[in-house]
Parts: sequence; structure tokens; C-alpha cells
Amino acid sequence: MTDTLDLDAALAAFVGQSSGPATRGSHPVNEPMIEHWVEAMGDYNPVYVDDAAAREAGFPGVIAPPTMLQAWIMRGLRASLDADAAGGSGAEASESPNDRVMALLNEAGYTSVVATNCDQHYERPLVPGDHLSVTSVIDSVSGEKQTGLGIGRFLTNRLEYRDQDGELVATMLFRILKFKPGTGAAARAAAPAAAAEQPAARPLRPRPALTQDNAFFFEGAKQHKLLIQRCNACGTLRHPPRPSCAHCRSFEWEPVEASGRGTIFSFTVNHYPQVPAFDYPLVVALVELEEGTRLIANVSGITPETVHIGMPVEVGFEDFDDELSLPVFHPAGTAAATGTSAATGTATATATADETRTN
Ligand SMILES: [Zn+2]
Repeated sequence: MTDTLDLDAALAAFVGQSSGPATRGSHPVNEPMIEHWVEAMGDYNPVYVDDAAAREAGFPGVIAPPTMLQAWIMRGLRASLDADAAGGSGAEASESPNDRVMALLNEAGYTSVVATNCDQHYERPLVPGDHLSVTSVIDSVSGEKQTGLGIGRFLTNRLEYRDQDGELVATMLFRILKFKPGTGAAARAAAPAAAAEQPAARPLRPRPALTQDNAFFFEGAKQHKLLIQRCNACGTLRHPPRPSCAHCRSFEWEPVEASGRGTIFSFTVNHYPQVPAFDYPLVVALVELEEGTRLIANVSGITPETVHIGMPVEVGFEDFDDELSLPVFHPAGTAAATGTSAATGTATATATADETRTN
């Protein structure tokens, strides 16, 4: 019996076990939190805030946005810090099965983690006054998989949300990938060239995850056009790309070309982890276009010491390979570093990262 099979058996023994005690929300479902949420998310569906509109739609009154589900359970910063401190004091007996599965995976070298997907199912709308508790069961642990990020195993927890009467109101499958760092596609791409004692071929940049909503953006970039979605019904611009208008809910839209002028709204300088397709330090900015939408992109022609919030920038485009061109901004009034180049780092898939992604 190999180590892998031993580990398979050890992990399989945890499937079906509760991954921790029930957790009760700090507060019942309430209208102030709903109003903060819809404002932050830009979701203007009136059934969340307008009692009359909710009744007209067939509800008993305002309801909570279904995707707020986790918000009703999440503890605050102080409670999280207290829990971390309690865990650090070394009470081994209080380790949950989920903690033990994570420890087994860490010991086997799967030390990195990324949340991969989350499927929620709603049994009924939540209304102010509902007070939720959640329990969690280890649903599955996969065998070893080779993924783009690295060799790893998927761990799925099934969470059940119940109201104050014990009625099931929602379920959620939450999956993470625990993987071995340095075993992903970038490392594999570099390995054959190194083995042949040739200069390592530079790995291609990560591909964006194309969808029917965002493909236009990357097709536009190939033609060196910076495109923004515009709602056909109300004219509102939006980015990142998504199926419907947050203002009027229309699904009809068309792409419009941006001027390419904007300012740096915020930025970060990425030092680690380093991916071979990029150069470091890597300046990644949130650029506010003069049309009003924002996007994440790289800034070239500037050092980390001189980039600053409010800096005027203009777009250029880089053709990284036959399939991938991306907008890269540069300080306004300077020459664009356009053309074919593998030398300048650029944010890729993050340019259209869905802001609702769960981590
Ligand atoms: Zn609209």
C-alpha cells in the first residue's frame, strides 16, 4: 500500500463527519444590514428595501438578497481574532474533523489553498427576524489531481442553514483546492527547457477565463480597442463584464470603445508569489477611466516609487502571443509601450475578475 493510498483512506474516513460545531449568527436578518449590502453591491431590486414593492411581488414584506446568506453567519473581526487566539493556545481536543483534514493535507505537502467554487441552494426567502444557524459536514475529499495551479485535492464541505425553528432555509457546497506549491502549469512549462540545458522558454501568460459575457473585452484588446459594456436600455456603463445591468436589469448591451484616458484610482506592487510569465516588481493598478468605469491592469513605464494615486494614465496594448493582447497603461504624455513584448508584466485574468467571487 502506497503513501497515497494510505492518505486516501485516512481522508475518506472523514467524509460525512461534522466539520465543526453549529454556528449561530450574531444578529437576526435585519433591514439595516440589507440596506448596506444592496448599496455596496449596487443591487437596486426594490423587494429588498421597499415593503410595498415586496408585497406587490408576492412576498410578505421586504426580503434579504439570497446571496447575503453567508453574511448572516459571519463573525466580526474581534470574534475572529479571539478564535485565532484560542486556537493558538493549543487545545488539541477541540480540533474539529475539518481542522484535522486540513492538517493531514498540510503534512502531505498540499500547503497552498484556493477557494474554487460555491453552490448555494435557497429553500425560501429570508425575512427580517429570521435568525440563522449553520452546520457543516465534510462532503468529499478528492483523489490527487493535476490542476493548473498544482497537484492537489479538492475538499468540499456541505453547509446547512436553519432558522430559529430548525427549518432548513438554504444549503451550500463550498469547495477548496489544497495544492502543492510549485507543481502547477508554469513550473511544468519551464521544466522541459531546463532539462535540455537551454535557456528556459518563457511560459505563456495565464489565459483569461473566457465567458460569453467577457469574450468581447479580450477580442477588443486583440484589435487594440479598450471596450466597455453599455446597457442598451438605460445607457449605464459597466465593468467587469456581466450579463445584466445593475441599474435597470436589462440583458441588452453593446460594447463601446473607451478613450483610453484615466487616472490611477488605487494600485499595488506585487512582489510575491512570482510567476515566470511576469516581471517583478509588478505594478497592478485599478484605473478609473474618464467614462467612469474602472478596470485592473498593469502600468508600464513607471517604477514602484513614482506611481501614485490620481496619476493620469493612457492605455496602450501589448501582444503577448498570437492569442493574447491586453491593455497596459502608461503615464499620460509618455510613449506607449505597445507592440509585441514579453518584458512587461500585466494583470491578466484579474482584469475581469468577478467581484462577487467567494474566497
Ligand atoms: Zn440599464
